[in-house]
Amino acid sequence: MKHSVSIIGLGYVGLTTAICFASRGINVTGIDIDKQKIRNLNKGNAEFYEKNAQKMLQKVIKNGKLKVSDNFDAVKNTEMSFLAVNTPSKKNGSMDSKFILAATKNIAKIIKEKEEHHLVIVKSTVIPNTTLKTIIPTLEKITQKKCGKDFGVVVNPEFLREGNAIYDTLHPNKIVMGSDSKKDLRKLKKLYIDFYKKLPKTVETNYSNAELIKYVNNSFLATKISFMNFVSRISEKIEGGDVEIIKKAITLDKRISPLFLNAGLGYGGSCFPKDLEAFRQFCIKEGINPRLIEDTIEINNSQPLTVVKLIKRRFKKLNGKNISILGLAFKPETDDIRNAVSITIIKELLKNGAKIKAYDPKANNNMKKYFGKKITISDTSTSCIKGTDCCIIVTEWEEFRNIQPERYIRLMRNPMLIDGRRLYNAKKYSKKIEYHAIGVSYFN
Ligand code: NAD
Repeated sequence: MKHSVSIIGLGYVGLTTAICFASRGINVTGIDIDKQKIRNLNKGNAEFYEKNAQKMLQKVIKNGKLKVSDNFDAVKNTEMSFLAVNTPSKKNGSMDSKFILAATKNIAKIIKEKEEHHLVIVKSTVIPNTTLKTIIPTLEKITQKKCGKDFGVVVNPEFLREGNAIYDTLHPNKIVMGSDSKKDLRKLKKLYIDFYKKLPKTVETNYSNAELIKYVNNSFLATKISFMNFVSRISEKIEGGDVEIIKKAITLDKRISPLFLNAGLGYGGSCFPKDLEAFRQFCIKEGINPRLIEDTIEINNSQPLTVVKLIKRRFKKLNGKNISILGLAFKPETDDIRNAVSITIIKELLKNGAKIKAYDPKANNNMKKYFGKKITISDTSTSCIKGTDCCIIVTEWEEFRNIQPERYIRLMRNPMLIDGRRLYNAKKYSKKIEYHAIGVSYFN
């Protein structure tokens, strides 16, 4: 493939995109300001766990289809640049544009000197109006060139799921692209047609709609989760209540999809919490009542603590109690612990004097760095559970599903299980062990 693209920011999104493009023959230049990351990538070390990523990275680094650098000069020889830098929250929750702005300025310096047309693609999640009011004016000011004529900008938000990042990049549900220039949209579409052969369902729109779609997408999914956690609180209060039965029944209605309707400990990760906060701040700034988003956030923030309240009620004093935590990553199939629910629960338990043993199939090292010696990290689920007074399932890894009640009984000092992700059959487990599950009436 004759395309040559640069990708600015080699985190979960940028690196995944770079690896996938390069694996299908596109010449990719990856740029990141983190020198250590560049050194690791050059050695074929992806720095994070994502199915197939490591293997594919090593291949494309070796065959030269992906070159990585901390020097923006390499952007010059590419026809387009994807901005995939982080867009974190400021203290008040609104989106911090400092990284996207810094990257934009660096690209602008290249476009200024470049004779050929260059396309800038905003893949990072940015709050509506950022492209029109910040990115394009910055590019035009530095380059002294006109957007839509001398260079182009397209907003192309990313919808991949961590844990399935490579698969989702190769098989996305949809592509959203927004620009005021038909020519620039065509240019990006051409890249995707060559990459996918059969173009996935694509929505072409303007800059601001493309930006808004990403926030609405994430807010809607988060709202589904919080709505079901709200229902779980009601199920816990009614005689024989079970949120799973409610879910089963409502999703027989063709209008209600079962996805993202699992009651549990709530969502975490690097996207939903920060995007909902940024969206909330955006609504406030625009004079729109953000109540719906606020309730979603509030339910989510308090959900992990329901588990701690239960343990406190059960044991009265947590001092000296040994609690095991199964699952630390914010979701299965990743080692990412950013805003993980496990962190909230562990901090609260530590505050109450409990001793924590924790295990995750992939996130142990990240958690070790986070908590240091404050908690014990176990190498296996067996050693984690052993000798503890209560075990909490926090992340729904497949390997936990096979742990039978007898194993908990055999290993634990006091076999009490809190199923925070509804991994087990409530009836079966509660017959054999002290079993509590989110959304089941006897949870309280
Ligand atoms: P990340 O934090 O994993 O990676 C961002 C990378 O950008 C880092 O390596 C950082 O060093 C680099 N960077 C920062 N400033 C830079 C600059 N000026 N020049 C070059 N590199 C720079 O972030 P991520 O999770 O990949 O997310 C990137 C964007 O994509 C965010 O806006 C995020 O909201 C969005 N997004 C993320 C996901 C996800 O699952 N992680 C999914 C969809 C969208």
